Amino acid sequence: MLTPLNEDKNIRHLRALIDQAHRIVITIHQAPDGDAVGAALALQSVLQQLDKDVRIIAPDALLHSLMSLPGAKDITDATGYPEFAAQLVREAELIVCLDFNALSRIGAVGAEVATASAPKVLIDHHLGPEDFAQVCISHPKMCSTCFLLFKVLCAMEMFTIIDKAAAEFLLTGMMTDTGNFSYNCADPEIYIVVAELVRKGADKEDIYRRMFETHSENSLRLNSYALLKKMEVFAEYGAALITITRDELNRFHYVKGDTEGLVNRPLAIPGVVYSAFLREENGYVKVSMRSLGNFPVNELCSEHFGGGGHKNAAGGEFRGTLQQAAELFRSLLPTNKELYLSNHQS
Ligand code: 5GP
Ligand code: MN
Repeated sequence: MLTPLNEDKNIRHLRALIDQAHRIVITIHQAPDGDAVGAALALQSVLQQLDKDVRIIAPDALLHSLMSLPGAKDITDATGYPEFAAQLVREAELIVCLDFNALSRIGAVGAEVATASAPKVLIDHHLGPEDFAQVCISHPKMCSTCFLLFKVLCAMEMFTIIDKAAAEFLLTGMMTDTGNFSYNCADPEIYIVVAELVRKGADKEDIYRRMFETHSENSLRLNSYALLKKMEVFAEYGAALITITRDELNRFHYVKGDTEGLVNRPLAIPGVVYSAFLREENGYVKVSMRSLGNFPVNELCSEHFGGGGHKNAAGGEFRGTLQQAAELFRSLLPTNKELYLSNHQS
């Protein structure tokens, strides 16, 4: 029913590596999102049914919304427990890297993974996978790692052991990486997979409420403040910018995840085709960008803001002050207008 993944050799290799390993470690990227955590929990749940000892390592703490996922509390936070995380990696017999393309995306765990003796597998949908894994299943056109993982599991003939819990994890990742199927979701096959996951018992409405419609009062107020007081719209350039200082974050008792989705909001304004959100952190500025259509925010992020990502969703870590980052963004507006026009003529 689904189109073939065309990864026969990799799938056979992966299946053999899973059969040979007992202790399996799954690693996901920094500031793990619903796709990373969903994929990790889904794979853990499936492999546990094969009696594997599966541990998930995240480079840092999970967003509050993701902590409600069953098993999320057992994920090892490598920032809080670096020694334990390193030991898990050293003792692993197989390391599966999900939803990231370069070891630099997993912080200090990256060095451990690079030198670990266990074979490594990469299953991901970001452009330009680094060459560190024996098995590399990389499909940048796919909407999410969870969608890809579903296809990988099917190719390994594990469809029947995807239970309700795993189905909910996979659907969580597909929903969060597509903004509840509002972008990056033109592939009709996505909906065949959704149908299969719902058939397995995944409660889409409940996931939607937990992932998209649950916010603390502080978070609601911070986002409203940001839009009211801190959003700059550059109509002639099709751009918008939101900057938030550390003081402002403190004023609203910011916790990680409170500004999730904020960068998308200016795209609601007709004519705005790309949007940037700059958040002051200790020693650097966290950059988040989103765009519509062909405007490549990943190029903007990789060339100027110390990062990368997808064409329509990218980010980075800018080494400098918030003011410098904002000035740089504003100074690039005329050049970006050219980039926008050239992408729209092609
Ligand atoms: P977000 O804006 O949600 O933090 O990130 C959106 C996407 O941008 C991520 O899925 C990832 O592909 C990319 N991204 C975010 N931050 C970074 C970063 O610091 N470095 C790189 N290379 N990519 C990033
Ligand atoms: Mn993803």
